[in-house]
Amino acid sequence: MLGELRLSADIIVVGSGPGGATVARELSKKGKQLLLLERGYDHRKRFYYGTYLGALLYSERMSLLFTEEGLNIIAPIMLGGATSMYCACASQPPAWLKHQYGVDTTAEVEEVIRELNVQPLPEPLLGEASTRIAQAGQALGYNWYAQPKFMDPARCAERFSCQASCMLGCRCGAKWNAAEWVDDALAHGARLRVGAKVRRVLIQDGQAVGVQGALGGRPFTANAETVILAAGGIGSPRILQNSGLNEAGVGMTMDTTAIVYGLSRHRGTGPEPPMTWSWEDPDGAYMLSTLTDPWLLYPTAAVRKGMGPTLQWFQWRRLLGVMIKLKDDISGGIYPDGRIRKPLTSDDSMRLNGAYEVCRKILVEAGAGKASIFMRPFIGTHPSGTVRIGDALDTNLKTEIEGLYVCDASVFPEALDRPTVLTIISLGKRLARHLLSR
Ligand SMILES: Cc1cc2nc3c(=O)[nH]c(=O)nc-3n(C[C@H](O)[C@H](O)[C@H](O)COP(=O)(O)OP(=O)(O)OC[C@H]3O[C@@H](n4cnc5c(N)ncnc54)[C@H](O)[C@@H]3O)c2cc1C
Repeated sequence: MLGELRLSADIIVVGSGPGGATVARELSKKGKQLLLLERGYDHRKRFYYGTYLGALLYSERMSLLFTEEGLNIIAPIMLGGATSMYCACASQPPAWLKHQYGVDTTAEVEEVIRELNVQPLPEPLLGEASTRIAQAGQALGYNWYAQPKFMDPARCAERFSCQASCMLGCRCGAKWNAAEWVDDALAHGARLRVGAKVRRVLIQDGQAVGVQGALGGRPFTANAETVILAAGGIGSPRILQNSGLNEAGVGMTMDTTAIVYGLSRHRGTGPEPPMTWSWEDPDGAYMLSTLTDPWLLYPTAAVRKGMGPTLQWFQWRRLLGVMIKLKDDISGGIYPDGRIRKPLTSDDSMRLNGAYEVCRKILVEAGAGKASIFMRPFIGTHPSGTVRIGDALDTNLKTEIEGLYVCDASVFPEALDRPTVLTIISLGKRLARHLLSR
């Protein structure tokens, strides 16, 4: 049997999603000796990348991860984290992050927007049906806008034609993926171990001294004076709990998501890029965007709503979809025995009903048949708020342990109710600056 593997570095980063990739890139560019440990693998060049098979292979529990309440969580485990399967939407961090919690990322956000050329898709690519929905919303007094994107059709190797299957992984190359910033970090001397599942942080006298886990089944210990956990909203609290920090994972946010569908006589939103138009309701605290489940995934969700919604699968190309992202209250959490709970509070349910009624009006205005409208079962793509700023972390993302930081979606003090990645990257840049200034 192989013995324990021993590694060391100045700084260890655990997880290579937007949080981990950003902080790894920024620190290695400044000459820090950095070790990046990622549980998943790099699937970008594999034949199955961006296919239904791929999505099964690289999602935790083959996409069958559910909360006790039946909410389906999609948690990609791979180099680049969830940016491999995201819709590449970019939203500014909420103003409350600065005003209520003292975390100002203004300079970093501007830097990211410049660096990654964040902007809406060109008008001809916004999609005919998606634009029809946005115009219907505008006609009803809701100010829909073209959604800024981490997406550049000019980067496409082939045609910009992935449609809703964009969410299975980017085959055409238009989407920015955090794995690209891992590539940058490696070019600046960082070391990467894939297949490295970190189990716990090693702590001595209140100071982080490294991590322990398994690398392809072989136990390893990696030593460093600074450890940054970026294993995502589920992964980071699990590692902290295994390290004796039991307040991690108590309560979570999810931006609980639902899609409201209606059948129209014209082309639907499925054959178009996802989330090209959005609208935010500050009073109801939710966001709406144009979106349809990929073709083969649609019936797996619709079947839980009965025969009528399931049969609409045969008219998938004519379905109009509006996605609701709700700013849900902190509830449930990640439990040490492996369970995940995310119950909706009564206030969540009330606001969700309000959002559903708005979607219904918009879909009818956009030409959907009233009788065909239904809301699919809830889905969770933003597990977050499990190691919160102002609670388990200070404003520099440090835990109570010296040298131990968290930099991913778990740090959000409240649900964002909007795309998370721009906020996470900005926090990663801000943390790197803080560490370099010490
Ligand atoms: C289908 C889908 C669509 C989305 N669309 C958008 C969008 O359009 N815009 C947007 O802003 N956001 C979107 N999101 C959300 C966004 O992608 C995530 O919120 C974001 O990627 C979270 O970043 P993170 O750094 O917290 O963690 P993740 O991206 O989850 O990365 C965590 C990484 O840590 C690794 N890891 C986990 N446990 C361990 C361990 N024990 N040891 C080592 N490594 C570990 C994982 O493999 C993973 O690579 C979407 C998400 C999904 C699933």
